[in-house]
Amino acid sequence: MPDRSALEDLFRRHGFEDFKWFPPKDTVVAHWVRMKCLFGCPDYGKGAACPPNTPPVEDCARFFQEYRRGVIFRFEKKVDAPGDRHAWTREINARLTALEREAFLSGNVKAFLLPMDSCLICKECGGSRDKCKNPKMARPTPEAMAVDVFSTVLRAGYPIEVLSDYDKAMNRYAFLLID
Ligand code: SF4
Repeated sequence: MPDRSALEDLFRRHGFEDFKWFPPKDTVVAHWVRMKCLFGCPDYGKGAACPPNTPPVEDCARFFQEYRRGVIFRFEKKVDAPGDRHAWTREINARLTALEREAFLSGNVKAFLLPMDSCLICKECGGSRDKCKNPKMARPTPEAMAVDVFSTVLRAGYPIEVLSDYDKAMNRYAFLLID
């Protein structure tokens, strides 16, 4: 099992410099996050890696209890309009997926990525797990796993706030669960 410094070298080799270790057992999982998916998200039911295609909230909470070490990656960016972020997040999600793969191959059999944005691998999402066109690569976001990202990253010492307009840079976060 690689030690911390070997993993940090791996993160940097993949171009990720801004990260913090955190204990996944401290991840804040909450029903209100799932309610925001059900009521308020225009894409509810359309994503094969989003609710209702992710586990029930109780199972999500149990999932995080199975990990001892994890890493939160921070990404900061200012965009002119909400949709403008997708090209950026698609590229970073692909790099994070490659990182998860290498972490796995270096001996971390439990390595599992929660990317910083919804799966955007395909132009048209299959919409359900059995119709996912790239099941090896698709991963749920932290929010899709009912993670209260605000509370969790604040607890880890990272900044985050609700943006009232797009004049400010946004902070987005991905989680890599290690072992
Ligand atoms: S890989 Fe394609 S079909 Fe599967 S969740 Fe991602 S976008 Fe949807």
